[in-house]
Amino acid sequence: MAEKKLNGTVIVTYRCNAKCTMCNRYKAPSKPEEEISIETIKKLPKMYFTNITGGEPFIREDLSEIVRELYKKSDRIVISTNGFFTDRIIKLCEEFPNVGIRISIEGLEETNNKIRGLEDGYNKGYSTLKKLVEMKHPDVGFGMTVQDANAKDLVLLYKKSNELNMEFATASLHNSFYFVESKNIIKDRLMVAQEFENLINELLKSNSPKKWFRAYFNHGLINYIFGQKRLLPCDMAFDTFFIDPYGDVMPCNGTKEKEVMGNLNNETWEELWNSNQAEEVRKKVRHCDRQCWMIGSVSPAMHKYIWKPATWVIKHKFLNFYKKKKYSMYENKIVQDYKEGKVTKEELDKCSTCDLNCVAQDGLSEESKKAISKAKGN
Ligand code: SF4
Ligand code: SF4
Repeated sequence: MAEKKLNGTVIVTYRCNAKCTMCNRYKAPSKPEEEISIETIKKLPKMYFTNITGGEPFIREDLSEIVRELYKKSDRIVISTNGFFTDRIIKLCEEFPNVGIRISIEGLEETNNKIRGLEDGYNKGYSTLKKLVEMKHPDVGFGMTVQDANAKDLVLLYKKSNELNMEFATASLHNSFYFVESKNIIKDRLMVAQEFENLINELLKSNSPKKWFRAYFNHGLINYIFGQKRLLPCDMAFDTFFIDPYGDVMPCNGTKEKEVMGNLNNETWEELWNSNQAEEVRKKVRHCDRQCWMIGSVSPAMHKYIWKPATWVIKHKFLNFYKKKKYSMYENKIVQDYKEGKVTKEELDKCSTCDLNCVAQDGLSEESKKAISKAKGN
């Protein structure tokens, strides 16, 4: 029987040069000496898709070695970055012409720089994108974490991505140990949902089936920001995994505290993946009520339960083509209920994972914690 390939995310570092408003990871970096080694990367299983992320992955100067090793076991690699280290990104793409690059841009210039907390971050990110286009790098795109502060830039940025002939990925605010954050919440849900509705109609209008499915993903984001049950089951840790800079294998990056299936520095992949500890984590995933809607957990689910997004796409293309009927956010019953005052903002806030009184978890090792405390002079 052919070996089953998995979908993996490798968090190569928790260090980051940005200071985003929706993520405190830059305050909780990993210690460089502890970060995942090539020896541990060699133990990873075969994958049909690998996402390399951080922190900011290009902070690691040995990233090309990691990519080289991962190409021995993965059909496709995409690196998520804030795009700041232009020269390193270009150099890596010259070495690996098929690697995918996703640069997060959080809005037009002023908004992006405010959210990202990086001086000249927009121009850096955008010029990296342009250089990649000039060198005709085939797999480039940008991503945006939609929130109150940047929702108005959503369609404009999508149009910019079209001009550059690039992929455009969206996310919204989440709380978890990975973001070292528990207070993220959308305040003006109707305004943000309206912007998603506009984007969905742009995507449905295109000739690209991939964009129609992205429209479904964004429809799911409206559902998510209103705190409703995920549109598709979450099967993380079954054929999908995350590995953190310490070699800890986890189901996802959406949990409140780090959930560990095992540590790949100390065991083989087979031992870890088939262990009782991994089974326990899978049981928790089955009962998880966090209802995240992030591409890492939704993309595998969209492939697995393809009939559901496909039915949605066919319905909307049909309505659009034959009846000139556009998508409306009020198709989500909860949005209609909210507009009519049947549900209050306070009730919706309670459905979110935002917890203003919670001490955010960071998933750091004791050594990394000590290093931070030493740097602060405690
Ligand atoms: S969202 Fe990404 S770029 Fe921003 S601080 Fe967190 S890890 Fe860094
Ligand atoms: S819903 Fe899925 S992705 Fe989100 S925390 Fe739970 S198991 Fe992880």
